[in-house]
Amino acid sequence: MRGFFTPLARAFAALSILFAYPAAAQADPPWSIAIHGGAGTIERENMTAEQDAAYRAALQKALDAGAKVLREGGSAMDAIQAAIEPMEDDPLFNAGRGAVLTWDGDIELDASIMDGRTRDAGAVAGVTGIRHPIELARKVMTDSPHVMLAGDGAEAFAAEQGLELMPPEWFETERRKEALQRMKARKLSAIDVDIKFGTVGAVALDSQGNMAAGTSTGGMTGKRWGRIGDAPIIGAGTYADNRACAVSATGWGEFFIRVGVAHEICTRLRYRYQADIAAAQAEVPRDSEGQPTYIVHASEFGLDAAHAQEEIDAVIAEVGALGGDGGVIVVTGEGHPLFSMNTSGMYRGRATSDGTNEVAIYADE
Ligand code: ASP
Repeated sequence: MRGFFTPLARAFAALSILFAYPAAAQADPPWSIAIHGGAGTIERENMTAEQDAAYRAALQKALDAGAKVLREGGSAMDAIQAAIEPMEDDPLFNAGRGAVLTWDGDIELDASIMDGRTRDAGAVAGVTGIRHPIELARKVMTDSPHVMLAGDGAEAFAAEQGLELMPPEWFETERRKEALQRMKARKLSAIDVDIKFGTVGAVALDSQGNMAAGTSTGGMTGKRWGRIGDAPIIGAGTYADNRACAVSATGWGEFFIRVGVAHEICTRLRYRYQADIAAAQAEVPRDSEGQPTYIVHASEFGLDAAHAQEEIDAVIAEVGALGGDGGVIVVTGEGHPLFSMNTSGMYRGRATSDGTNEVAIYADE
């Protein structure tokens, strides 16, 4: 794991070396989790108080489930699965039960998961009848030699692994049937008919310093020809790398694939960290011989939240420049839980070992 010391702590650490003070007592290792339930055109004036409250309650439930795992010392992988599964079961979100319908009226689910410790990953695309696609993605990672399985083959693998299967009626909701009908009747695009994307995802840093990311979705309303979005694409919708961060995306998948959003964010954060540590070292006071009076060690240096946010926003701006929209959740190696979006809202939440615990919907809150 990367260091999580603040500049102040760093200065103190340097002083303690210079004056041979005993090392400062280290705080408990931090943990952190962020979740999303989709980005899109989500505006106050279009939400009733009941809908607003229902989304916040559903987000809080998912956040609590993930935070509990981390608080009790569990792994980031277990935390994100614990957070995603209640959202897959909740018809409010476009994942698992309540997912959007394809052009033919079916439900085809995509999901992926990545372990930042080893960069092992698993993904499934276009699967039907699987209650928890995120669990299946994890099984692909742990129990197959592959990273991605699709369609019938993925379903056969799920059956072999004894995953919970559900009949089509369990997944289908009136709301999504109506959206598909409206789309066909008015010849609307998926964006026009379903402007709240509703995909779900979670990212976490555990107290061992390991990160993980996962994303699960029904894709976009009226999709056809076996369309697959960014959610199951490692590097586009999901990425986790202990050297940098964990990312889960939601939005217009084609653009997120083209930008390689999740991997691009991790790469930028990795390089920004290196640039910042070099800059910090350059600022260290020199002795009479011009040598730095101390070395800024990687273990004592953390990437600033504001710097991480700049890099993440730049990637979302790139999506926007190509004509796409959506958002991301990111947890950094320092445990900063961050969001970025170019839509009017994103269902989201975050919790940390410092006591942060909040859910939000609109971009301006
Ligand atoms: N990104 C998803 C897709 O394109 C949609 C979403 O975020 O809801 O399949």
